[in-house]
Amino acid sequence: MNILPLPAFTDNYIWLIEENGKATVVDPGDAKVVDNYLKENGLKLENILITHHHYDHTGGVEQLKESYECNVYGPYDSPFKGVERKLKENDEITIHGCSFKIIEVPGHTLDHIAYYSAEQDVLFCGDTLFSGGCGRIFEGTPSQMFESLSKLSTLDLTTKVYCTHEYTQSNLNFAVKVEPHNNILVEYKNKIDEKRLKNEISLPTNLKLEKDINPFLRSHVLEIKENIKDFAKINYPTDLETFTAVRSLKDNS
Ligand code: ZN
Ligand code: FE
Repeated sequence: MNILPLPAFTDNYIWLIEENGKATVVDPGDAKVVDNYLKENGLKLENILITHHHYDHTGGVEQLKESYECNVYGPYDSPFKGVERKLKENDEITIHGCSFKIIEVPGHTLDHIAYYSAEQDVLFCGDTLFSGGCGRIFEGTPSQMFESLSKLSTLDLTTKVYCTHEYTQSNLNFAVKVEPHNNILVEYKNKIDEKRLKNEISLPTNLKLEKDINPFLRSHVLEIKENIKDFAKINYPTDLETFTAVRSLKDNS
């Protein structure tokens, strides 16, 4: 299974899975970008996977449906009305012969789901987990987002994580402020700064790395608790309180 990024808008990636002349796209916000790639490479679009209802993830669905006979998978209870195959927690779907499990991850939006294949060791997580960050909490509560990220963090450490935005560099700029003594983080930030200078993509990431560098998966770390406790006005913040404070500090930075 070949997975490649199609850049869209200013910082979105539409992930395209390619297998024997057939293709699946994840979160096609822009139909043109997908259509051009399919035509240039003689591919037939079989499936569209949607993680959540936001327009930058769904805007191209209608037009792609008009040009290709494809299945549209997405969340069961979504404000986006183009979902045909509605998915819930633990549902399994087969994409190019590989099984993907559905994980409900509310927080960024209430309808947000992620697609996980243990066989392929890949996770399509939309706007829930980013490299060095997480999605803004637009519809859910901090506790929902915390739970959703905790679910994702129990997957295999080797899981390759395909996020939908190129936010890594700005996320890491923030991350080093809340955890300046994390050497793995500082080194990774330098590596990403170099990559982005050459305009190279920073994704996919993997779960092992994210657990080492991502402040939103590290609410248990004392250095982070120390650095947010004045902002949070709590002396001994719990992990959830720490997560909530880090999220709101980032929203306000
Ligand atoms: Zn979104
Ligand atoms: Fe988005």
